[in-house]
Amino acid sequence: MELLINKKADEDFTIVIGCGRLGANLANTLSDEGGNVLIIDKNKDAFRKLSPSYGGLSIAGDATDLDVLQEAQISKASVVVAVSNSDNANIMVAQLARELFHIRRVIARLYDPERECIYREFGIDTICPAVLSAKEIHKILAVTSLSKNRVQEETL
Ligand code: AMP
Repeated sequence: MELLINKKADEDFTIVIGCGRLGANLANTLSDEGGNVLIIDKNKDAFRKLSPSYGGLSIAGDATDLDVLQEAQISKASVVVAVSNSDNANIMVAQLARELFHIRRVIARLYDPERECIYREFGIDTICPAVLSAKEIHKILAVTSLSKNRVQEETL
């Protein structure tokens, strides 16, 4: 584990797990809005995705490791967002954040839609890309068929 940016974490801050396409984007946005952010990734090369203006902390390490979470001062976090590419890692970190560290808001990305409803019961908000994408595509199709029907009606 390696602390890449040596800046003290504030009392109220967000921890993002996974500095992939989603995690880096989220961390950049929160940081640009002036939030206190700390991002953890097991691969330190992933931090290249952070923008030059990113003003938060970065820790290279496996977020399922309790030592890494403690190094990140997880108990001081108000929000934990687990968006690594592993459902198991996201679930494990989300449960640790809720049960052990009593974090108020915990959000986990889950690729498997069947697991989504289970974790809502534990007070963990879940984001499932497949479900969200299906809903968006359905919305687009509904709008497309609506405008197609209008064109047909107008031409009659
Ligand atoms: P993406 O698929 O682009 O959203 O990237 C997911 C990121 O999660 C990658 O940069 C992985 O290195 C990272 N990752 C996966 N498992 C873990 C873990 N257990 N702890 C920290 N980072 C992880």
